[in-house]
Formats: sequence, structure tokens, C-alpha cells
Amino acid sequence: MKTAWYEELSWEEIREAAASDVVVIVPFGSVEQHGRHLPLGVDRMIVEEIARRAAPSLLGAALFTPVVPFGYAKHHMDFPGAASIDPEHLIAYAEDLGRSIVHHGFRRLLFLNGHGGNASALDLASKEITLQSDGICALANWWVLARDEFVKSRESEFPGGISHACELETSVMLAMRPDLVEMEKAERDINFPRGRFLWRDLFPPSPVSLLDAWSRISRTGAIGDPSRATAEKGRLILEAAARGLVDLVAELRGYPIRPRVDHHATASGEVGYGSSAATVAAHRGGQGP
Ligand SMILES: [Zn+2]
Repeated sequence: MKTAWYEELSWEEIREAAASDVVVIVPFGSVEQHGRHLPLGVDRMIVEEIARRAAPSLLGAALFTPVVPFGYAKHHMDFPGAASIDPEHLIAYAEDLGRSIVHHGFRRLLFLNGHGGNASALDLASKEITLQSDGICALANWWVLARDEFVKSRESEFPGGISHACELETSVMLAMRPDLVEMEKAERDINFPRGRFLWRDLFPPSPVSLLDAWSRISRTGAIGDPSRATAEKGRLILEAAARGLVDLVAELRGYPIRPRVDHHATASGEVGYGSSAATVAAHRGGQGP
């Protein structure tokens, strides 16, 4: 395979890629505020950068589609700039994309998500693709790919140091686009309500979820401590995420897609209750299993 970018192939090459069971990766970003010190497009930029770094190791094993730039960002609407896609649209859009790709013979898909707000919609879409097509579709939030590396270098407090436009995202931006980071405006903002079950952090997230309007729980738009960010941490995180993605693709390629078994069929081979309208009718007539 000459490239890892889906768009750069011809239809004949796509046919060949599907026949060799390549994993198709669909990255998702978001356009929304990232505090006073970072630009709106952080989430797209990060997944794009991870894709770029992983691509040379994934030639012949994976293809990246273009990044979907927008996502679910309603919780950021009190700050200027967010463009939010409603959840039902995002689920349908992601499913449409996945089903189109499966239609061409690909059986292994991965949604690579750059934005926490997208996770619920993409989770449902990936499940629907897996359960209603011949393919499987996994979902990975990019930061889980780098978790082990980041936990080692983390300096900010728990809970709260790592949530949004925080030590993690700011470090990554310093490593890849320092021209877009205004560190003099980066300040600690950890003011959300917390308790036994509710807090905000990525490592680990709280066991109970509550997505509050960001303007209620953050003054600057950031949640976390971006003042602890460094370019060196960002470099290590990006490398770890790219390595993690390569490992995940290998795992998905090795994942056995076993035949489904319809247990409505009886042991004797007769078709049982519920497998067709005719059988249901027969069963109701007293001739079922
Ligand atoms: Zn972000």
C-alpha cells in the first residue's frame, strides 16, 4: 500500500485494501473553546497529529479517512466559537460513514475520538455498526492510548488537573503547535463541585457522569492546571499515543470475527420461535418447539 490516507487511493486500490482486511480509522474532532490560552481546534489537531505520527508504521495495516472536524459541544456554547452537532445527527453521521466503509468490504473500523463530548454518540454509533453490519467498529478516545505514559509524568493534582485545555492538552499543543499556545494566559482553573461519585478528570474519570454547562464549572473555559504543561511531556504523550494506536490496530486485525449463531434454531435443525413471521404464526398455532 502506497499510503495510509484513504482519500489518496483509487477505487481499485480501495478494493485491494478491503481484500487485505485493512483497518479503517475515522478520526473525530470538535470546534470549541479551549480556555483563554488555546485555539478552538485543539481536538482535531491532536487526532490529526497522532494519525500523522502513526501512519508510517501502519502502511498496509490501516487507512485514515479525513478527520470529521465537528462534534457535540453544546456544553461549551456559553463561550464564543463552539459549533455543536446534535447527538442524533452525530450518531447518524458516524453510522452512515461506518456503513459506507463496510459496504466496500472493510470489516474492521476504528473511531479515533479527540473530544470527550463526542464519546457517548460515537459509542452508540460504533455499537450499531458492529451489531447491524458484517463489520466490527471500535471506539478509542485518544488519551487512553497514552494513559500509562502520561500518568508517569503528570504533575497536576487529582482530581481536576486533567480535564480540558489542561496539563495534558496544553502539553501536546506545546509539542506540536507552540505558535498557537499563549502560556502567559494559562492558569489553573479547578473549581467544579466534587464528591464521592462526581468529579472531573480523565485519569480516572468519575464513576458517575454529569455533563454540566462549562460556564457553571469553569471561569476561564479550561478545567485543570495548564500551567504544569511542557513541550517535553507533550512529545512523550504524542509518541505514546501513536505507539498505542499501532498496537490497537494490530489487536483489531487479530480480533476474530466469528460467525453469529442464531439460537432460535432448535438442536434438531428445525427453526424455532421468533426466527420468522411464519414460524411465529406456527408457534402460536401450537406447532412450535
Ligand atoms: Zn479538547
